Amino acid sequence: MTAVIDRPAGTSGETPASGLVCRNCGATYPLGAQHACFECFGPLEIGYDAERLARVTREQIAAGPHSIWRYAGLLPTGQNAQTRVDSGTGMTPLIRADRLADRLGFTAPVWVKDDSANPTHSFKDRVVSVAITAARELGFSRIACASTGNLANSVAAHAARIGMDSIVFIPTDLEKAKITQTAVYGGTLVAVQGSYDDVNRLCSELAETDEFESTAFVNVNVRPYYAEGSKTLGFEVAEQLGWRLPQQIVAPMASGSLLTKVHKAFKELQSIGLVEATDYRVYGAQSSGCSPIAQAFADGTDRVVPVKPTGIAKSLNIGNPADGPYALDAVRSTGGAMAHVSDDEIRDGIQLLAQTCGVFTETAGGVTTAVLKKLVESGQLDTTRETVIYNTGDGLKTLDAVAERVGPTAVIPPTLKGMRSAGLL
Ligand SMILES: *Cc1c(COP(=O)(O)O)cnc(C)c1O
Repeated sequence: MTAVIDRPAGTSGETPASGLVCRNCGATYPLGAQHACFECFGPLEIGYDAERLARVTREQIAAGPHSIWRYAGLLPTGQNAQTRVDSGTGMTPLIRADRLADRLGFTAPVWVKDDSANPTHSFKDRVVSVAITAARELGFSRIACASTGNLANSVAAHAARIGMDSIVFIPTDLEKAKITQTAVYGGTLVAVQGSYDDVNRLCSELAETDEFESTAFVNVNVRPYYAEGSKTLGFEVAEQLGWRLPQQIVAPMASGSLLTKVHKAFKELQSIGLVEATDYRVYGAQSSGCSPIAQAFADGTDRVVPVKPTGIAKSLNIGNPADGPYALDAVRSTGGAMAHVSDDEIRDGIQLLAQTCGVFTETAGGVTTAVLKKLVESGQLDTTRETVIYNTGDGLKTLDAVAERVGPTAVIPPTLKGMRSAGLL
């Protein structure tokens, strides 16, 4: 490609974002570190200038970096290569999962978008790359978050990379790997005696104090920016499929933000003509230990009733999911469905993905894979339609989930006789 690009996406130029928009009442505000509407207290999201978005071309994207920042022309921040934080996040493998497809009786292709390949081994690097770039551009000196584990890893790592102070809040009962993988980066790590929802509430209070005035909480005061990072999971799948959309996607839900933003990404690509306007269905996955959104779906209501989470899928354990109603809308408006699965089904899901794709996922990916299977068996997911499932994290972070189920096939002395007596020769 030799064409002269006058303003390559993501190397210079202005943001395509036009302001903050209330998702509830539609009130608009200038861009900045604000997350709730002054009128109705509804959540804010980034609004875009349609004309500026429509200037982005496939060629510009292809000429960009091999990371999420190739989509800077479709993101609220990071247009300036000097201030953006590029940790190499994104452009993770889209794996064609023929053996998984066969096992579940698909006649159409099934793909696994494998976000365990990100720098800190979860999809959270996407949202953090965008949030910390916004935080730096908005003049914050410290970065913070309330986390169910993966976000903690990613915030601490990104802060270390650019030398920004960080303070990360987690519930005390997280997996050891996630605690260690946060602490090793050297920021401040605060373990709070309570659930994630307690931690989140504390962070919302802290964000209002004078002492935290120059602190950006990625999922509180700069949440509108943070959330846009998840769109890159949609952009990449479309680009990796040769600029078209899959017919079905299955995504895990904690707050429901990821699922909602993949849907937003697909809509944006359609509206600016980067992909054809084909139909797709969005499916949502939760664990039975924490299924407030899937429960509202089953009950046919918009009201998401908070729960007290239990179970092994800790990264998804948000009992009061902020984006629940929007996730319900994305799923219902596309004709998809939601389901939840037990801890044993999650373990089965981890093993199914590992044994058919060679991908070792954490408990969240076990949820997604098990829900894929469940929705196929219940006839709600169509095996004749091309399907993408999102693996959002790495199995090495939640080893305990399957450690008791799998191990050496045999323990033998170093002799042929040993092999024989184990029945392996
Ligand atoms: C945070 C997380 C999700 C989903 O998060 P949302 O709050 O719904 O955006 C999914 N998988 C993993 C592994 C996560 O850490």
